[in-house]
Amino acid sequence: MNLRESESLYERALIAIGGGVTSAARRSPAGNPVYMERGSGPHLWDVDGNRYIDFALGFGTCLLGHAAACVREAVHVQLDRALSFGGGHRHEVEASELLVSLIPNAEQCLFSSTGTDAVLAAVRIARAVTGRAMIIKMEGSYHGSSDALFVNVWPDVTAGDLGANPAVHPESEGMSPGTAADVLVAPYNDLAAVEQLLTARGDEIACVVVEPVQSMSGCIGPVPGYLEGLRAATRKSGSLLIFDEVITGFRLALGGGQQFFGVDADLATFGKAMAGGMPLSAVAGSRDVMEPASSYRVHHAGTFNGNPLACAAGVAAMTYFRDNAAALYPCIHELGERLAAGWREVSPRLSVRGVGPMQYLSVGEPAAGVRSIRDLHGGDYQGYLLLARQLLRHGVHLLAAKGLCYVSACHEESDIDAAVAALAEALAELPEQDR
Ligand code: PMP
Repeated sequence: MNLRESESLYERALIAIGGGVTSAARRSPAGNPVYMERGSGPHLWDVDGNRYIDFALGFGTCLLGHAAACVREAVHVQLDRALSFGGGHRHEVEASELLVSLIPNAEQCLFSSTGTDAVLAAVRIARAVTGRAMIIKMEGSYHGSSDALFVNVWPDVTAGDLGANPAVHPESEGMSPGTAADVLVAPYNDLAAVEQLLTARGDEIACVVVEPVQSMSGCIGPVPGYLEGLRAATRKSGSLLIFDEVITGFRLALGGGQQFFGVDADLATFGKAMAGGMPLSAVAGSRDVMEPASSYRVHHAGTFNGNPLACAAGVAAMTYFRDNAAALYPCIHELGERLAAGWREVSPRLSVRGVGPMQYLSVGEPAAGVRSIRDLHGGDYQGYLLLARQLLRHGVHLLAAKGLCYVSACHEESDIDAAVAALAEALAELPEQDR
C-alpha cells in the first residue's frame, strides 16, 4: 500500500505542529497518521488515493455519512451569504427550536462549538443552580479536556483494588490541582459508590456527570437500574444529573440516551452528530434549570458560539434525523449489531462490545460481564493497535488510538460484510501470537 504522500505530510507536520497532530486522539502509537483528502457516504480517500470504509466518521460526527447532501447544501447556501456575523441570525434560532423540540426535558439550550465547551457550561449552570461546587464524575469517562473533568479517564486497572472512591488523578501535566479538588470520582455502574458520596457530602455536590453509555473506555452500557438509581439519588440530594450525550445524542435514538433508556436528566450536552460534521455543541435543559444562564448570572460566551455555518448544518442534520427517525434508527442499530456479530465470529481473541451504532473493538478483553473499565484488565492495547494498522492496509479505517467504531446511515450491508472479511484477512497476516 502506498502511503508516501501521507508520510511526507507527517514529516512536515512534525516540524510546525506540536507533536505533529492537532488532537491527541489522532495520534496512533502504532504508526504515522494517514492524511485524508475527501469523503463520501461511508468512504474516505487518502492523499495517496487509497479508499477506506470508514468507521471513525469524523470522530462520530458524520452519522449521515461523509458529505451528506442535506448538510452540504445547507452549508453551501450559508457560505455564499456570510461566514460569521458577530450578531444574531436565523439558523441559531431554528437550531435551538429544533433541539429543544427533539430532546426530552429540554426547553432551552446554549450553543458552543465543542463537547468540552458544552460540558463546562453544564457544570457551571449546575453550580449556579445549587450554590454548590463539587462534581461527581465516573472513572473511565471522557468529558473533554477541561481541568475539572479530565481526571481518572485512563486508570491503571492493573494496579490492584482502586476502591469505591479512587483518588483524583489528573490525566495531563499542567492541570490545576485546585480545580481537581472539586471533583469526586466513582466507578461506572457502581450506584452504591455514588449514593454513598451523595449521602455523606450531598450538600456540597452540584452535579453528577455521566455518559448514558460510557464510550471511550470501551462502549460499556449501564446495568439495569444504574441510570434510574442516579436519577433518584441526585433528586434526593438536590444535585443535578447531567447526561453527557456528546456521543450518544442523536445516535442511540432521536432523543438520545434519555429517550433510549427512559431516564430523565436535568441537563444534557450534545456535539458530534448534531451538526453532521460541523463544529456545533449545546447544553439543554428545562427553563427552570437553565435560569442562571437565561438571567445572565452564568456567563456563556464565545466567538464561534452558534456560528451560522455550524447552525445551518445543525438545522439540516436535526431536520433529517427528525423526518427520517422511523427508518434511520433501526437501520443504524442493525448495521452496528451486524458489524459486531461479524467481527466477533472472526477470532476468539477479539471482543466487540457496544450498543447499536457505537461498537468497541478490542483485543484481549473479556467478551462478557464488563461493568466498568476495571473489568477490562487493561486488555492487549498493542495488539489492538497492530490490528487497526493492518486493517488500514485492507481498506478499513478506524479511530487511530481507540477501538470505538461508528456506523452511519450510509453504510450498506455490503460495507459491513467487507469490513468483516477485511478483519479476517488482516488477522491472518499477523504473526500467530497476535491473532
Ligand atoms: N464528552 C464526550 C462523551 C466525548 O466523547 C467527548 C469527545 N469525544 C467530549 C465530551 C469532548 O468533545 P470535544 O472533543 O468536541 O471537545
